[in-house]
Amino acid sequence: MSRFLSNRYKDLEPYVPGEQPQDQKYVKLNTNESPFPPAPKAIAKAAEAAGRLQLYPDPDCRAFSEKLAEHLSQESGISLTRENVIITNGSDEVLNFAFMAFCSSEKPAIFPDITYGFYPVFADMNGLPYREIPLDEELRIDPADYAGAGGTIFIANPNAHTGIALSRDQIEEIIRNNPDDLVVVDEAYVDFGAQSSIPLLQKYDNLLVIQTFSKSRSLAGARLGFGAASKEIIQDLNTIRNSTNPYNINGMTMAAGLGVLEEEEYTRENCQKIIANRRYTEERLSAMGFELTDSVSNFIFMKHPEVDGGRIYEEMKRRGVLIRHFTKDRMAQYNRVTIGSREQMDTFLQVLGEVIEELK
Ligand code: PMP
Repeated sequence: MSRFLSNRYKDLEPYVPGEQPQDQKYVKLNTNESPFPPAPKAIAKAAEAAGRLQLYPDPDCRAFSEKLAEHLSQESGISLTRENVIITNGSDEVLNFAFMAFCSSEKPAIFPDITYGFYPVFADMNGLPYREIPLDEELRIDPADYAGAGGTIFIANPNAHTGIALSRDQIEEIIRNNPDDLVVVDEAYVDFGAQSSIPLLQKYDNLLVIQTFSKSRSLAGARLGFGAASKEIIQDLNTIRNSTNPYNINGMTMAAGLGVLEEEEYTRENCQKIIANRRYTEERLSAMGFELTDSVSNFIFMKHPEVDGGRIYEEMKRRGVLIRHFTKDRMAQYNRVTIGSREQMDTFLQVLGEVIEELK
């Protein structure tokens, strides 16, 4: 720490992203990336846009946000325009904007005790209070716990790191029971088997739905996310965006995003492959004695009744397979494993079998 750092940040504990090791080639199943390359159209359009990098990008992301609104309208059956969406540098950025715009000392941030680890960091970074509501014994969110919660609610659906989803009806219950507070639904993993809450935007003005192009749409490296909500909420978020970085989306990323939306079939097929690989992996893990949460995401959350989760993580890494281990309270016996290609999952299962035999 330098002697110049503001007192405001002296105690800030930054978010620690999953390892991105450069030292050796791992079977990398630790950060929930897609095993599939971006859609061919996304690659071609990004390459074309590289030739225009001498120019600033469109700060309104007009072409992309129009196409996105059209796509979301088709999928949800409700009518959305580009004024209902904000495009951001990964969904992390719109999440941060939502903390800045909609939380305060009177409106603390409220989220589960086990969820995306960036939420408390966004709160701390912005000097905002937050309250954590414990998951139940089966690591599930109980919507009843959020009735009249008295703050801005953040729900990852499916939840990180359990992968368990609430139904749209359960999300609606939370929204209905907090009419004077905003509910932010973070749908980073929604495309792998959960229901999106976007159709609820037609009925409720206290809802902000956030999605990303990093997972199902294979663009983690491009950094592209978005929020969908009422025009007024989007305006508020744009006030924050335009006061920090109006050029938050670079031209190549915008072009890649358009390419993804023009090739939706590719995304859909990849999601089906991930879902099939998840089932395949789950069956084999259950046969090996692992306990699993009911994940509908592109990852599984597993623990072994006899073998320590931290030891499994370490031994897997030593053998070249990278998975994610968290040390917080009830998570310490679990590991989170990204669902990759069939070949990656076969390697993972084989190495895991050896590790379990050794550690048992
Ligand atoms: N929400 C959740 C629940 C996540 O797990 C992640 C990815 N780590 C994000 C949001 C942010 O993803 P990105 O910024 O790549 O869109």
